[in-house]
Amino acid sequence: MIKFNKPYFTGRELPFIQEAIENNRLSGNGPFTVKCQQFFEQRYGFKKILLTQSCTSALEMAALLIECDSEDEIIIPSYTFVSTANAFALRGCNLVFADSNESNPNIDADKLESLITENTKAIVVVHYAGIACDMDKIMAIAERHNLYVIEDAAQGIDSFHSGKPLGSIGHLAAFSFHETKNIISGEGGMLAINDEKFIKRAEILWEKGTNRSAFFRGEVDKYNWIDVGSSFLPSELTAAFLWAQLQELDHIQAMRKNIWDYYYRSLLPLQEKGILFLPVLPEYASNNAHLFYVALKNHDEYVALAAHLKANDIQAVFHYLPLHKSPYIENKYGVQQDLPMSDFFGSTLLRIPLYPDLTREEQEKIVAKISLFFS
Ligand SMILES: *Cc1c(COP(=O)(O)O)cnc(C)c1O
Repeated sequence: MIKFNKPYFTGRELPFIQEAIENNRLSGNGPFTVKCQQFFEQRYGFKKILLTQSCTSALEMAALLIECDSEDEIIIPSYTFVSTANAFALRGCNLVFADSNESNPNIDADKLESLITENTKAIVVVHYAGIACDMDKIMAIAERHNLYVIEDAAQGIDSFHSGKPLGSIGHLAAFSFHETKNIISGEGGMLAINDEKFIKRAEILWEKGTNRSAFFRGEVDKYNWIDVGSSFLPSELTAAFLWAQLQELDHIQAMRKNIWDYYYRSLLPLQEKGILFLPVLPEYASNNAHLFYVALKNHDEYVALAAHLKANDIQAVFHYLPLHKSPYIENKYGVQQDLPMSDFFGSTLLRIPLYPDLTREEQEKIVAKISLFFS
């Protein structure tokens, strides 16, 4: 069986975890946490990075930071992972779902303005497959209506919009190091803070509502409970693992891109015949090869191709079911919105295996079996 995902190990994870043990410092915000945070700040120019337990918890921090509640509406793509929306549902916000582009699953910036009301507080965007959303348009709309922009960059590590790193464009951004992402730590994530006014409070939320970070820096002589918060920071064991991965970031990206390019080249003839749709990268977007998908013409073809690949020992998987039609949202609001492109990608998009240890032989088999299906 060719598995859909296999975590990649650099071989340096255990030595760094050993070092964390020898440091006698296992709780969060220790030397490995600081090193990882500085790595991202220096390499990508983020104003401030805080490692978190997950992208989910980074999104929850973002929702706390913008101080949204039941008076506020938050615009969120329907075609995304539940965590994107859950962070705001937890704060009691009203969720307004946005449709995808016709050419790719990212939020359709041209349809955004019609969703904005006087209660709108923020737009959350998801860079699906690590491919940038139309950030020039989205930031201009946000500025015009005085809204926050939060980037769910869970899949967007080391990817760019017109040369700017994803996660550096909105006011806040959340990344994931879940084992299915490009750079991993099992569970893990980080919050990127680009609007400086959030930095001080973010550190407090991160440390259970205390000013312990300032205390460790010697800025105050006692630490105290000064705001709400939670345990958002990961342990040093997680940060040590992540540090090992970061040593090989460029190598990991190169291996993934090599596979992505092979798939694209090999499956292009099927797209040219009008049989299926491949990922579309707008001219402003770079490619971090987070995932590779094909979208079929309809759900029946999707079901048949998925079954065909499974019968050939290839694990290919769907991605998101549209959130605007989820049981949670149906129970809460009833089905109110008609989002045809979210429905389309929800019923036709099939992801195929992509990870550094996938051999060329396995890649060839996957391409051959897809081609055979349509011959
Ligand atoms: C993976 C993912 C998440 C969740 O990340 P965790 O680190 O598992 O919490 C959120 N949003 C998107 C778009 C994702 O792909």
